[in-house]
Amino acid sequence: MTQRRPMVAGNWKMNGDAKLAKALFVEFNTTLSGHSPEVVLCPPATYLESVKHEFEQSALSFKQSVIKLGAQSVSEHDVGAYTGEISASMLKDLGCQYVIIGHSERRSLYGETSHTIAEKFAAAKKQNLTPILCIGESSSEREANKTFKVIGDELNTIIERNGINAFDNAVIAYEPLWAIGSGNSATPEQAQEVHAFIRKRLLEVSPLVGENIRILYGGSVTPSNAADLFAQPDVDGGLIGGVSLKPTDFLSLCTIA
Ligand code: PEP
Repeated sequence: MTQRRPMVAGNWKMNGDAKLAKALFVEFNTTLSGHSPEVVLCPPATYLESVKHEFEQSALSFKQSVIKLGAQSVSEHDVGAYTGEISASMLKDLGCQYVIIGHSERRSLYGETSHTIAEKFAAAKKQNLTPILCIGESSSEREANKTFKVIGDELNTIIERNGINAFDNAVIAYEPLWAIGSGNSATPEQAQEVHAFIRKRLLEVSPLVGENIRILYGGSVTPSNAADLFAQPDVDGGLIGGVSLKPTDFLSLCTIA
């Protein structure tokens, strides 16, 4: 059976600053060992350089590929008159290896449709950036027993546009909308049920992709609920919002994963 390397990704959203980057690395230097999960930091674009700088200054012990840089969004276009946008190749230039795509805040606040998200996924892949694709249902969809339908449709749109092999080098984050920032995480059983569904869906199309893909859980993960969530067989780590801004707590999530 495949051993999937656990991952903890921190999405700062529109929070933090260069001081937070420094504080996180002070904590990493003292706590993170060579056996850590892969840690991906996704600060606002303006602080990607600060995080990279702190990384470059940091102790050698965890430099061996433990910490990676990620962006929170990417343009679906390669280049051109798209004021305010940042392209995948620009993120590459800044040292990013990952990019979050389809976060529910991008979908709900900025009108990103499934179509746009599939295009952004394609733009990221074209530049060899690894997408962290966020999918998840709202509370009303869950109450109406539509969770699997919503998740299945979100996956299908990406597969139809990009092909199953695009998931070869991709990460999925299951983020139920009702759990994000609410303090009300999914139970480990609820998370496992959906993660198993996602993996099965991908296994049906490609056994290799289904077996290898990392599926993160996101939504009110804290040091007190992480161990049970991360222990589920199909949960390969977490996408972390609020707690990624608290160096000590974020580090404790990294050591739990
Ligand atoms: C998120 O926004 O991706 C997220 C998981 O947030 P939080 O951890 O704060 O619920």
